[in-house]
Amino acid sequence: MQEINYFDIHSHLHSDFFQKDTETIIKEMKKKKIWTISVGVNFNDSKKAIALSQKHTNIFATIGIHPTEKETFDEKKFQKLLDNNEKIVGIGECGLDYHWPTIDYNKNKITKEVLEEEKKRQKKLFTQQIDFAIKNSLPLMLHVRPYKNSDAYTDALKILDDYKDNNLKVNFHFFTDTPDIAQKIIKRNFSLSLPGVITFADLDLNIKKTPTKNIMSETDSPFASPKPYRGKTNTPLHISKIVEKITDIKKHQEVKNLLVKNALNFWNIKNH
Ligand SMILES: [Zn+2]
Repeated sequence: MQEINYFDIHSHLHSDFFQKDTETIIKEMKKKKIWTISVGVNFNDSKKAIALSQKHTNIFATIGIHPTEKETFDEKKFQKLLDNNEKIVGIGECGLDYHWPTIDYNKNKITKEVLEEEKKRQKKLFTQQIDFAIKNSLPLMLHVRPYKNSDAYTDALKILDDYKDNNLKVNFHFFTDTPDIAQKIIKRNFSLSLPGVITFADLDLNIKKTPTKNIMSETDSPFASPKPYRGKTNTPLHISKIVEKITDIKKHQEVKNLLVKNALNFWNIKNH
């Protein structure tokens, strides 16, 4: 049994963004007992995430296609990645992203028909990955980004409701939406992971109203650094700031350990 201080359940540590710093960051993570899941956003990127996870005991991987990636889901190719690979703990990040296509539509860059086609394309890509997760009994790492009024969340939950008899484990990554949506997620016994945004935007009510058992901690490195690192490259080393904020609001010291436990439990990671 290894001691784990923090679990950053969503980073892109394998990304080229970190270049030669990756190994230095990982060395420091090991010293501080920080574990992470490096998340794939397309097929080749997923392979890079796996490669990094195989080199380090404190790193795991997910494989999948992000909703804004223009790639079709080739089940056979992804299935091959899964064979004999215990470091892959989930499918994703996948889901719905209405933010970017709607901005294009509002700038008259694309027509209403193209926007609707894009939403349809994303929904298909999403359901293919839900089916794949069920087939392989793996949890889902979701990326859901609304344009307004939680639009993408409403659609994602509607899609997931069609699968409610499948015992699906679902995590909504980078959760910064309304307490109302948070409640809908909890009611379905799904979980949400909180990013660095909680250290500078007022999302306290979300944290207060969400039971600790439904919360996990994440950095989404290299993006979205918490206070006091805003504007700088984010790394899993910053996870402590996010956990401190959750602990402050929940007002009990056990939160730090519970967040680690939640992560191990949710992603079926055995710590031995
Ligand atoms: Zn991500």
